[in-house]
Amino acid sequence: MIPDIKRCPRCNITKPKEEYYTKMDKGNKVLQGYCVSCERERRREKYWENPQKERTRSKRRMLRNGRNITPEQDRVHNIRKKERALVLRKARLELIIKLCMEAYEVDNREWLNGRYLLGKYEECATMSVWLIRKHTFLSREAIAEIFNCSSQDIIDRIKLAVHENSWERGDILFRMKRENILKKYQRNKPTIWSKVDSIPYDSFSEAMRQSKNILPYNPPNSPSTGITQDQLIETLSWYYNISSDIFYSDDTHIRGREAMARQVYMYLLYAFMGLNEHAQAQLFSRDRSTVMSNIKKGKEYMKKDRNSLFFELAKRYPEAQTCPAEQMIS
Ligand SMILES: [Zn+2]
Repeated sequence: MIPDIKRCPRCNITKPKEEYYTKMDKGNKVLQGYCVSCERERRREKYWENPQKERTRSKRRMLRNGRNITPEQDRVHNIRKKERALVLRKARLELIIKLCMEAYEVDNREWLNGRYLLGKYEECATMSVWLIRKHTFLSREAIAEIFNCSSQDIIDRIKLAVHENSWERGDILFRMKRENILKKYQRNKPTIWSKVDSIPYDSFSEAMRQSKNILPYNPPNSPSTGITQDQLIETLSWYYNISSDIFYSDDTHIRGREAMARQVYMYLLYAFMGLNEHAQAQLFSRDRSTVMSNIKKGKEYMKKDRNSLFFELAKRYPEAQTCPAEQMIS
């Protein structure tokens, strides 16, 4: 039974039943001890004694909703929450790419991948990369994965886009395109996770799960320990977008990117794999002086590239980073 009036022991005022919260006690509805204003005051004081603890408590209370939950259920709940956020992010980035492709009138999504792109595709990729970085909270590494290029390429494209977008030195067409795309994006961007296709959390890559500012860009200044020549060739042919056959081909007239890739390869063999110019002269059947000049050029390319190749190597073969000395001891 609920009495019509009750005296609040905290403020010592007798108040009507409407001035009290009710609670369930052994199946009966009863009035709470303090009146509404005293109760609020008490909760506020309690909150500020230890805000973090109270926040966790209230979250768990909300989650539990009357049930007892295990740590396992709590974990599943947290993963599901992250998964929803990621699904939304993915839908948003796909929308941005689609809008950019419409704006630049290109239709082959595959051609936006990689480091070396053609005319309109290059411009389209630059715009998409920049907008994705700005409007979804993805790291450079995640965007590099989406476009199958290196993290350094993403940094370069963002810089280029910022330059094109600036008032003093930029391009008015670029700004107009950006405005158009963003208008459409804001109108159509998905905001409710249940309206986009759900994808399990496990299928998102490590880079996609990271938030925007977590991974610092610190290229190492040597390849990972224990890396093999095959792994080097594989990464180099992806990095320079060339066939892997050219590294040991007899053709002495290769030019451009292919020549560059082979020179970088020779430099890496020289500096990190213990193959000096004599060994390489035999390996590639070239003059010793030709080998030496190739190694020098390779070193210069690496320097210009600010070691981003090493970063990509470490990303691809993180297991190769473990020190072989440690394995020998065990
Ligand atoms: Zn009171």
